[in-house]
Amino acid sequence: MSAVAASPAARTGSDYAVELAGVHKWYGAFHVLRDVNLRVRKGEKIVICGPSGSGKSTMIRCINRLEEHQKGNIVVNGTELTNDLRRIDEVRREVGMCFQHFNLFPHLTILENCTLAPIWVRKMPKKDAEEIAMKYLTRVRIPEQANKYPGQLSGGQQQRVAIARSLCMNPKIMLFDEPTSALDPEMVKEVLDTMVSLANEGMTMLCVTHEMGFARQVADRVVFMDAGEIVEMNTPDQFFSNPRHERTRLFLGQIL
Ligand code: ADP
Ligand code: MG
Repeated sequence: MSAVAASPAARTGSDYAVELAGVHKWYGAFHVLRDVNLRVRKGEKIVICGPSGSGKSTMIRCINRLEEHQKGNIVVNGTELTNDLRRIDEVRREVGMCFQHFNLFPHLTILENCTLAPIWVRKMPKKDAEEIAMKYLTRVRIPEQANKYPGQLSGGQQQRVAIARSLCMNPKIMLFDEPTSALDPEMVKEVLDTMVSLANEGMTMLCVTHEMGFARQVADRVVFMDAGEIVEMNTPDQFFSNPRHERTRLFLGQIL
């Protein structure tokens, strides 16, 4: 752990992995996040759903500062996100992210994709990084693909590599942004199975997905966003059987 990460001033020892309080964001004049409030406990699994354009990706991307918010507070593992680059770095060390498009480096092997950041960002010896990469490739059940290139793998396999690659950085929180929506239907399950096992191992997870079976199976809470707001947030049971808002009912009517 770096001196910065250990600095008591930057840490509050909070029970929450992620806290968003009164968060607003604009893209130019467009008000994309409107007073977003969300507290995620350590180990909690949150599924975020809502219509296209409702701000789900923007909210997720604000949590590791791929986007900047303009008002309110975002605190990740006790570190508040400000313009302080050391804090941004500190937060990114603890937060892994998987996108819809896997963003693997096409000219690197699967193993090299997984060891790149540990070697260059964490300064880990190559041999150790490879050992850890093989551990996680085994965990996502594709160790035999280690020496292939991304283009030689199916979409589902590539997404599992992307998950393994994130895990190699030993994150405390994993963010997923529609990780299965670019996949052929027969590959969705293998990626969801990987996410379920990660959830069962106690990872704190925020997942934007419309896979409602997954939400029922692992989510502690389901968040519904519309037009930049969190409209409704509830246990999967209550959310699906007893949606309180008309907008939620409308949305569920369209996707279920
Ligand atoms: P979702 O993930 O729920 O589909 P997004 O967070 O991607 O929604 O986008 C929310 C809104 O913000 C959309 O109207 C989108 O067009 C707009 N938007 C997203 N990114 C940008 C950007 N970089 N600049 C301007 N507008 C953006
Ligand atoms: Mg999105």
